[in-house]
Amino acid sequence: MNFQTLKQLSELAETRNCSLGRLMLEEQSRESGEESGRVFAQMYDYYQIMKDAVHQGIHSDTTSRSGLTGGDARRMHGYRAAGETLLGGHAALAMTYALAVSEVNASMGRIIATPTAGSCGIIPGVLISSQERFGWSDEEMVYGLFASGAIGYVIANNSFISGAEGGCQAEVGSAIGMAAGALVDIRGGTPAQAIHAVGLALKNTLGLICDPVAGLVEIPCIVRNGFGAITALAAADMALAGVRSVIPSDEVVQVMLEVGSAMPESLRETAGGGLAQTPTGRRITRELHQNA
Ligand code: SF4
Repeated sequence: MNFQTLKQLSELAETRNCSLGRLMLEEQSRESGEESGRVFAQMYDYYQIMKDAVHQGIHSDTTSRSGLTGGDARRMHGYRAAGETLLGGHAALAMTYALAVSEVNASMGRIIATPTAGSCGIIPGVLISSQERFGWSDEEMVYGLFASGAIGYVIANNSFISGAEGGCQAEVGSAIGMAAGALVDIRGGTPAQAIHAVGLALKNTLGLICDPVAGLVEIPCIVRNGFGAITALAAADMALAGVRSVIPSDEVVQVMLEVGSAMPESLRETAGGGLAQTPTGRRITRELHQNA
């Protein structure tokens, strides 16, 4: 790619006078040697899989194989239908969709890892709910996915995107940053605003540990996807309003690397600490082993 940092990404998009999404499509096509129509078509298919997962998460049984989770997206869906939520329409819908996709993942359904399976709900939750609200076309949404991919590419190459390496800040945090930047890009914000959204979002998840109960990507992963969707919307709105990440977003990415590197192994997907080692977390783990 012709960019390695978020600043370079933003400057390149400004030089070419295009969105982050269009820039990433060009770059990916050039780098892979594939015709851009084919690259776009592949991403279009991914977006359809995301939509299917949202639908499945709300309308089908999502009880996980362990039996620990499932049905929370349906609960949120019913709660929304029954009256006004505290969050309000769009935010509650984004959260519901994020829970839905995350539950589909926990029940072994088909999802797109964005950037990982553990954080697969945030980008579809934010993008699909926004599409429904604003009436955007699938094509516009696909460019949004390319924008999120560009941001994920930079984070992955400069820091971490997996909980085992850098804690949940790297997984859920990266997904929130990717979703926030993509949303600004689709909404017509400048590349610089999109990059500020990434920094604003990442700052809010720095230090988040990875502590899945019994080592399963269920508790607390599913609800963190729900919360992540809300944070992404908030970061995108702040950036579109002109709020800046005073600490440049690339420096925030470096802090994620530093914090993740300092995180003890017990808090990096080993289920050796955090929520996994609470009395209830340990009891659940024991019961699952007994019933295995
Ligand atoms: S807690 Fe760990 S496994 Fe769960 S979503 Fe976060 S990084 Fe992934």
